[in-house]
Amino acid sequence: MADNDHSLANSIGSESSVYTGPGAASILGSGKSDAGELMHRRRKSVGASLLFYEEPVHIVRGEDCFLYDANGKAFLDCYNNVASVGHCHPQVVNAISKQAGLLNTHTRYLHEEIVTYAERLTETLPGELSVCMFVCSGTEANDLAMRIARAASGNHGAIVMENSYHGNSSLINGLSSCGHFLSTQPDYVVTVEPPNIFRGSNRVLDETSGPYYASKVDSAIDQLDLAGHGLAAFMCDSIFDTQGTLEAPKDYFKEVYRRARAAGGLCIADEVQAGFGRTGEVMWGFENYDVIPDIVTMGKPMGAGHPVAAVVTTPEIAKEFSRHAFYFNTFGGNPVSMAAANAVLSIIQNEKLQRNAESVGGYLKVKLKELSKKYSLIGDIRGMGLFLGIELVTSKKDLMPASKEAKKVAEEMKEAGVLLGVTGMFGNVVKIRPPLTFSRDNADELLEKLNIVFENLS
Ligand code: PMP
Repeated sequence: MADNDHSLANSIGSESSVYTGPGAASILGSGKSDAGELMHRRRKSVGASLLFYEEPVHIVRGEDCFLYDANGKAFLDCYNNVASVGHCHPQVVNAISKQAGLLNTHTRYLHEEIVTYAERLTETLPGELSVCMFVCSGTEANDLAMRIARAASGNHGAIVMENSYHGNSSLINGLSSCGHFLSTQPDYVVTVEPPNIFRGSNRVLDETSGPYYASKVDSAIDQLDLAGHGLAAFMCDSIFDTQGTLEAPKDYFKEVYRRARAAGGLCIADEVQAGFGRTGEVMWGFENYDVIPDIVTMGKPMGAGHPVAAVVTTPEIAKEFSRHAFYFNTFGGNPVSMAAANAVLSIIQNEKLQRNAESVGGYLKVKLKELSKKYSLIGDIRGMGLFLGIELVTSKKDLMPASKEAKKVAEEMKEAGVLLGVTGMFGNVVKIRPPLTFSRDNADELLEKLNIVFENLS
């Protein structure tokens, strides 16, 4: 079972401690409220929605790379890519409040903000990727992308990775193989083995490994053809988050795209996780592999917490879609969302956050590799920029996933004041994905605390 953003909480329970600390009255309102009561009310009113940690954290404030709980305890945030420009960046806060005080409405009137943003966004993308459609979440972006691919290809089927996560709508839940067992997977979806050089069926990285993993789509295409669906789209998260954060062989995507296009399908890069400079060297995750997708989807960090997402495609594909369908989204692309997104893009560019992701992420990766030599529990260090994974194994020889230990690391790190995630096919990969403003000092604090936690686990 997968461990995506949501499933760590699912697997580690949800009992809360009672907050009676300083400032309770002012922070929590009435002075009678506390974390225990909040948990109780949440269970009743919000249902069994997922929470992180055995004792969930009650966060009341954020600033740059730090989150603060109701007790005033600070947590170094190594998990939240949504706040990629740092929590509550004043430029984003100002942009949102200024626009909210002026006008917020749908996109059926002319407005400068949406056009400026679309122009600026497409300038960051290669090739003919120059038409934007705005939505409110990554799920919606992938849902629309899949509809576009179906309209443009005339086919129905999709190829995704094993243990993929692309969102929660009916259509995209079907493409999120981590969310259902094989028996409930729609027959228009076929999964393929991810290119995992550490524990996949080919563990040697050489010129044959890219074609080897890419060739897995051949039988998937045959299966879709046989079922009468044909291939509408190959959809892939460019950083392979739920597969445990992978670095694919350099020619993997080239080889897959060639095969998918030959079968009449479109190639969709899901950049909800990897986009907006996260991987450091390049703005978009797919650029690490020297390919140009037909459709790019993005969300999460786009509005620094404001719900805004997008689908970008070529004029030709957009035109073909508009021949088949009518598209309108009440909230997608509204002036406040676009003000937030414009501010985020400016901050990434002005504060050189992509370069920061490259340099701090590169430093962190080197130091984590040093740590992996010290502790037998650490099997592999992977990732790019400020999206890194530490894969834990009970033995380096047989690569048995150390899932319990990974959860323990996340719990212990939380106690030590650092927030991390757990991901991967076996829930044994510790996920590091901080705001892109993460500094070397922040990295050193993370490393120091990880060292102590691994020492205690050994
Ligand atoms: N694609 C990927 C790769 C994701 O990780 C997620 C969210 N975790 C989504 C799509 C869905 O985005 P959202 O939660 O905004 O709907």
